[in-house]
Amino acid sequence: MGTVTMEKLVSLCKRRGFVYQSSEIYGGLSGAWDYGPLGVELKNRVRDFWWKEMTQLHDNIVGLDAAIMMHPKVWEASGHVANFTDPMVDCKKCNSRFRADHIDLEAACPVCGNKGTFTEPREFNLMFSTNLGPVKDDSSIVYLRPETAQGIFVNFKNVLQTSRVKIPFGIAQVGKAFRNEVTTKNFIFRTLEFEQMEMQFFVRPGEDESWFEYWKNSRIAYYDRLGIRKDKLRFHQHGPDELAHYAKDAFDIEFEFPMGWQELEGIHSRTDFDLGRHQEFAGKDMQYLDPADNTRYLPYVIETSAGLTRSVLMVLSDAYEEQELSEGDTRVVMHFHPSVAPVMVAVFPLVKKDGIADLAKEIEQGLREDFTTFYDQSGAIGRRYRRMDEIGTPFCITVDYQSKEDQSVTLRFRDSMEQVRVPITELGERIRTEIRTYERV
Ligand code: ATP
Repeated sequence: MGTVTMEKLVSLCKRRGFVYQSSEIYGGLSGAWDYGPLGVELKNRVRDFWWKEMTQLHDNIVGLDAAIMMHPKVWEASGHVANFTDPMVDCKKCNSRFRADHIDLEAACPVCGNKGTFTEPREFNLMFSTNLGPVKDDSSIVYLRPETAQGIFVNFKNVLQTSRVKIPFGIAQVGKAFRNEVTTKNFIFRTLEFEQMEMQFFVRPGEDESWFEYWKNSRIAYYDRLGIRKDKLRFHQHGPDELAHYAKDAFDIEFEFPMGWQELEGIHSRTDFDLGRHQEFAGKDMQYLDPADNTRYLPYVIETSAGLTRSVLMVLSDAYEEQELSEGDTRVVMHFHPSVAPVMVAVFPLVKKDGIADLAKEIEQGLREDFTTFYDQSGAIGRRYRRMDEIGTPFCITVDYQSKEDQSVTLRFRDSMEQVRVPITELGERIRTEIRTYERV
């Protein structure tokens, strides 16, 4: 008891409507998942938390939402057509397929246990392609974007000319990306279709190293604000053989998932590689005219690239706790940061009669404008609390007989299970303060 495993998370996510297997009634599609009523709330809120952090709280970062399908030349220029490959091997005995860089090729096959059965590694391009229009030939190929970043690079000049930003500045984007992964496993960790939250920060060449440091510090601090435990996060610097074709330097932020330490976000120093390549392939001037000294240059880029769906898995893994409250009495509690909890406030009438349910309903409706709320009048109060603990609802309000007399209610906190009496008129302000000052236990 106690440790979080992938099985426990998958089961809770299914049971409570966070995440379902895609096309489950047909036996599922491996590597694809659907977000249920609570999952979509959680995902949207993690996205909003990032968006606020990366745009609203800065005066020099603007947003963008580019199309998933782009001109095919984009992916030639970016290097994805030539380089966006993973090495793949098959086991000749059991036909299992692996990423060659994820297993020891000298060891036995992890599935069937035979030795010396792997094929030679073959490079496999991860981009999904489709055809535009009725004719399926090479001239009609378009790709589903494997990263959102290129939408930002090709719009660099548009944004510059239309939004009065000056270097250093950033462009942020959240959106779907698609990769035909050799192996998809570990639930929503690595999927065919996922969402990325990327920000490209354009700087003067020579200032890239200090901005790289700035973004490393800023991004790790963000996870603290999101309520993720510090000891579950670490940096991993890419060695020379790990660096992507565009990168001068790269650090991953890794999280300790149930299956071990894995990448959550990449912080990449991309130099002027992308803008330079688009300048060359599109034949358009991508330089920046710096009003500070009238020089022209191709800006250098620091990229922060986080997976949204992978962040949801992180938030779920970090939140999960099984607690033994007393002999034989246990609860599962999800310690979500209140800002991202799918339900923020649940309201219960202690009993359904004597106008108590009406008052509870009225309180719940009054809180809707500011918080996501849930009304529940069924079952024993203790069970209603436990159901809310399991979906990570940070605040529960119980309306009882006394409430009708003195217009106060019980406010119960998820993590400490402490209960306090609060006047109805002060509920909104009290909850807002609790959210602002929340600290992960
Ligand atoms: P890997 O080497 O593990 O395949 P990567 O280093 O190619 O990943 P990036 O291209 O840096 O990954 O992608 C940035 C972020 O996008 C990752 O840190 C991750 O959070 C997310 N991501 C990448 N691929 C997937 C995927 N298949 N499913 C879910 N999230 C993904």
